[in-house]
Formats: sequence, C-alpha cells, structure tokens
Amino acid sequence: MLISDVVAFAAEREPEVAALEFEGTTWTFGELRRAIHRLAHGLTGIARPGDRIAVLTENNPEYVLAYHAVPLAGMVLLPVNYRLAPREVADLLADARPTAIITEAKYLDAARHAAVEVSSISTIITVDGSSGTALSELLDGQPGTEPERPEENSPAWLLYTSGTTGRAKGAVLTHRNVVAGAVNAALSWPRATERRPVALVPWPLCHIAGYNVLVAHLAAETVVLLRRYSAEGFLEAVQRHRVTATTVAPTMLAMLLRHPALESCDTSTITRIGYGSAPMPVATLREAMSRFPNAGFRAGFGMTELAGNALAHGPDGHREAAGGRPELLASAGTPMLLSAARVVDDDGAECPPEVVGELEIRGDQVFSGYWNRPEATAEAFRDGWFRTGDLARRDAEGRYAIVDRRKDMILTGGENVYSREVEDVLHQHPGVAAAAVVGAPDELWGERVVAVIEPAGAEHPTEQEIREFCATHLAGYKCPRAVLVVDALPRNTAGKVLKRELRDRVR
Ligand code: ATP
Ligand code: MG
Repeated sequence: MLISDVVAFAAEREPEVAALEFEGTTWTFGELRRAIHRLAHGLTGIARPGDRIAVLTENNPEYVLAYHAVPLAGMVLLPVNYRLAPREVADLLADARPTAIITEAKYLDAARHAAVEVSSISTIITVDGSSGTALSELLDGQPGTEPERPEENSPAWLLYTSGTTGRAKGAVLTHRNVVAGAVNAALSWPRATERRPVALVPWPLCHIAGYNVLVAHLAAETVVLLRRYSAEGFLEAVQRHRVTATTVAPTMLAMLLRHPALESCDTSTITRIGYGSAPMPVATLREAMSRFPNAGFRAGFGMTELAGNALAHGPDGHREAAGGRPELLASAGTPMLLSAARVVDDDGAECPPEVVGELEIRGDQVFSGYWNRPEATAEAFRDGWFRTGDLARRDAEGRYAIVDRRKDMILTGGENVYSREVEDVLHQHPGVAAAAVVGAPDELWGERVVAVIEPAGAEHPTEQEIREFCATHLAGYKCPRAVLVVDALPRNTAGKVLKRELRDRVR
C-alpha cells in the first residue's frame, strides 16, 4: 500500500464526504484524490524519482497534497520546520539537497537564501503564488488519474527528528513505514459508533505527529487542520466543527487548560484525546481528565524514526487509573498491534520486569536509516531491533513506563537520577507551571542535579521552598542542588523542552 492509497481508498468508499476543513474551505475525499494525482503529474515535470522536494510552510491543504503527491511521484517529501532560523533552514537543506522547495510569502526570504547556498535547488514553488512557480500551475491541465506507482519500499518522506538532544537527524521513511505507522495508530482506537468522527489536527505537519491526518483519513474521518496551534484557535475549531477526536502534545494540553476561553467552550463533543511526543505531567493529565469527562484518553509513545507511535495506553487503562491505580497515569501502555517491544541491558540481554533498560522496537514502521549518516544508522540497530535511546521498564502485566532519555539521565556520585522523576515532583508544586531537570558538571559528584522552572504566577517559589518540597518526595541525591527560574523554557515547535540548550545555560 502507498501513502496516497489512504486517501484513494477513502475516496472509493466516500467520495463526497469532507476530508479536510481548513479556514472555511472544505475538500471532499474525491477532490483531494484528484488534486493529489494532478500534483504528482505536475511534479514529474520539475524533478526526477528519488529527488527531495522540500516544504517550508505552515499547515495548509497544499501540505496535505504534498504528503501524498510527492511520494506518489516517486520523490521524497522533505518537511522543513518553519520555526527554524534562515541559517538553520539552509543547513538542513544543505544536508538533504532537495531539487525544489515549496514555500509561501512568509518564508520566501529563508527559501531564497537557502537556494543561493544550496546548488541542488532549482525551483521555488509557492502555495500562494507570491513568487516563482505557483503551485496551482503544477495542478492545472494535469490528468486527475493515478500516475505510475512507485515501490512500497522506496523512500517517501525524509523527516528530520525534533533536534531535542542534538542536531536533528534525517530519518528516511518508506511508504511501507508511514502506512504501518498510520494503520497501527488507527487500530489502537476503538472504532467510533457515533456520527462521523471529526478529527482536529493541531500539530505542525513538519512533525511526525502530522501523520494523524493519515490516521483519520484511513477511517474516512473529516480532518480539521489548524494553520498553527493556538489554544484559542483550537477551542474555536472544536465548537465550529463539533470536533469528536484530537491528539495533542502535553504543552498544548497545558495551554488549553490555562486558557480563559475554555470555560465557555462546549467541548462535550470530544470523545477521544490522544497525547504524546513528550512526557505528560500527571497533574496536567488529571486536570484534563476531569475537564473533558466525555473523552477517552490515550497515551502514545513514538518517534520520528518509528513513523508514529509504537506503545499505547488506551481509555481502559485510564479508567483503571482513575479507579484506584494512579501509577497507571504515567504508563506508556503496551506494544501496539503492529509493533514489538523489549527492554534490554547494555549487552542487549532482555531485562526482567521492573528493571530499567533501553527500549527497543521492531515492526514495519521502523525507518530504513538516517539520511547520510551510516554510522548513526549502524548504531541505531541491534540484532534487527531499533534502539530508541529511551530508558523504560516493563511491569509484570506487560505495561511499559518511559523512565527518561538515555542522554537526559544524570549520573551524580555514582547514582542514576532520572530527570523525568524529579520533574514529576516539581510539577506537583503549585508555584510551578513547567519544569526541566538537567545535569551540570560537578568536580566532586561528576554531575549535579539542576532544576529550571517556569513559575505559575508572578510570585515565584524560592529555591529554598523548591528544595524542601523535593526533599519530602525524593531521596537526597535526586534533589536539585540549584533552582533557576526562567520566564519560559526553551522549546521546539512540538513544545518539547530543549534540554541541550538548558545544559549549555546551566554550565
Ligand atoms: P532528537 O532525536 O533530534 O533529539 P526527538 O527525539 O525529540 O529529537 P522526536 O522523534 O520528535 O525527536 O521525538 C521522539 C522522542 O520523544 C522519544 O525518543 C521520547 O524521548 C520522546 N517521547 C515521545 N513520546 C513520549 C511519551 N509518551 N512519553 C515520554 N517521552 C516521549
Ligand atoms: Mg530522537
């Protein structure tokens, strides 16, 4: 199955149903399929199979067309994060060497700047027709029928990781990887029995979580797409479209819960809320569960390299948590139907239950390797398993908990401190809106635990208060030795805290 078959099959069944709602325009599945075919034909006039086609825009319907049409034409879609600085865009494009770049007025300067430096770029296409080739020209006069089909195992998307731990790496995903990732996610939700589901996708499509568009389209659900996430825009869309399902990053959920418009918003139509991409503070989850009582919640653990999620903890697990097993609120759940998981020690031997080791994943979703980085690719695999770089433990019931990233674990005086465990405690402090814990070099202890907090109100808690609070919840060696207060933690587009920046700062 090819990525574009997701829309093609839905269009066979439901050609007149709304596939996409975007700022007042509606695209049916039939229209979407025809436009995908047109764009795929149009692209063959400007690039060859295997060429990368970059997209540097905020979310829009053309992005969704590109998701499908670029790989259907045998080319490789290269989503570029629009939040990157022009210098970073040029560096990323110098690494990926695309033939063309699809952009819009707002990012035209960055695109032009990159095109001067990166000699492979021969065409600039704009979705708004502001310069270069207008995307509409590529659609005009092209056949609305399917072009010659590429191989399922050919590269379809070159998606860069979030760059949380270091320079972002390009993950090469094939049609098979992307389809497996989407099918896996679709299988993990109970099939809706109510009216036609309406799925709100608030993620930037340059992030792997943009695959939620495919997940919804597999089931011929209507997708409401936001140009960019904002709590206000999200709530407005929920009311206007009577949204029934959504997926969010923990930061998005925290922003929603804090927004004054939430109180007057009718969110009763929402029956499914998926969350993931970063650790979810338990306090935020609890608050969300009581604020959205009609919704079943599902946690997902995933990665760019996995074309989505591999572990999921569904509504049943959340109900069990509410019914007296609060520890389950921090669970990442069990392997999804198309994924296998294990936890291993440094020698690759499987750990017994409750022992922390590295999480490894196998399945059709696992990427084929990093772009231009044979060494990183070789290091990422062991005995056919993909090494996630995340530390996890499995309980006796087979549920997994993500403990920390291997790179975020702090080694102090010979003891392992999981930054996430300390953050969970900090998040329980009423004066803390968000917290991140990193290690700072220390002559005596090797590393020292440092907490960086974003205060909840104008009056922020003192270092003394925070340290005393931690001391009542954590062993002494896990407690922060220093507490820094910042207006805002450094975050990327998906709302993830950039710990490498924090580590540099606390140094
Ligand atoms: P980079 O690889 O460039 O450092 P990144 O790992 O943040 O960036 P992504 O592929 O977007 O890039 O994110 C995958 C990571 O996100 C996982 O390895 C894990 O650390 C974290 N993550 C995803 N889902 C969860 C979850 N449910 N709970 C905790 N952590 C999660
Ligand atoms: Mg990563």
